[in-house]
Amino acid sequence: MKDGFGREIDYLRVSVTDRCNLRCFYCMPEEGVQTLTHSEILRFEEILRLCKIAAAHGIKKIRLTGGEPLVRRGIEDLVREIKAISGIEKVAITTNGILLAEKLDDLCEAGLDMVNISLDTLDKEKFFKIARREPDGLSKVLAAIDMCVERGLNTKVNVVAMQGINDNEFVALAGLAKDRDISVRFIEYMPVGKNDVGKHIPNDKIREVLEGIYGEMVPDERIYGNGPAVYYKPKGFVGRIGFISAMTNCFCKDCNRVRLTAEGYLKLCLQYNTGVSLRGLIRGGASDEEISKVFADAILQKPREHTFNDYLEKKEIEDKGMSKIGG
Ligand code: SAM
Ligand code: SF4
Repeated sequence: MKDGFGREIDYLRVSVTDRCNLRCFYCMPEEGVQTLTHSEILRFEEILRLCKIAAAHGIKKIRLTGGEPLVRRGIEDLVREIKAISGIEKVAITTNGILLAEKLDDLCEAGLDMVNISLDTLDKEKFFKIARREPDGLSKVLAAIDMCVERGLNTKVNVVAMQGINDNEFVALAGLAKDRDISVRFIEYMPVGKNDVGKHIPNDKIREVLEGIYGEMVPDERIYGNGPAVYYKPKGFVGRIGFISAMTNCFCKDCNRVRLTAEGYLKLCLQYNTGVSLRGLIRGGASDEEISKVFADAILQKPREHTFNDYLEKKEIEDKGMSKIGG
């Protein structure tokens, strides 16, 4: 369905847990966050019911995220059941990749269409410094990426670019796509959560650095996924390089997505809390028709755009971390 600004909303990101097996310093504090209790988190049947209602309103793609979605037991069953919903064309997962190798076969068998793997460094020690868990995390993630490629799964590697942290690794990270049919995407750090890593690095700067090594980048006109990334294909590359320029190139006018948090809050924009709690309705005995109406009314309230850059100037930031929102 269309929102109040005429944008077609066909993509729902569902956070299935706020728990995580890593503690990436830009996302979660070392000691973790106050996690939701078991009963606060939507049960699978509640998620499925909401996905069916969303599909009836034109949602075609669902991405499972978190926290870390692969720590939730039975995630492959959820993938299978969401895939079976009439109108749902694609089911994707965003993961830190630690548990992916061991779950990949079950996920593929369940019908997973796409996977986004987060990876910010190719240096073992730095990986541990960033993630603060899993000393062997890097090799697990790299192995998982190769397994995804072997299985022909649509695979993207997401890199959050950070000054003084991984700004000496962009060429090497982009190089992952040289011989692999994957997309490596650079994401400008967004001021979400109170884990400030400083100012974002503009993606144009990263592209300049990469062009210095890999030569002129030819824009890849074909669409990979339905997101805000712009893709390039350096000469000789099997894969692609993508840029998600959340800070320097606001893509809100084409925004096609809404989010469902682990506790069942329909969040209409990454930045604002505008939205509605659907869990209360479900657990209060509301009918599908009632929930459906609330869903449709909420979509019409989706904000026009984020104002992260104003936030930066005012030194105000959304205090709910990405682990609560799902990225
Ligand atoms: N645990 C999974 C993972 O790491 O892929 C899924 C959830 S995580 C919150 C989703 C994505 O958000 C990750 O790619 C992560 O790097 C990214 N992220 C977290 N905080 C961010 C921030 N402040 N700005 C930009 N991306 C961020
Ligand atoms: Fe966990 Fe993903 Fe946040 Fe890292 S970015 S702490 S893996 S939720």
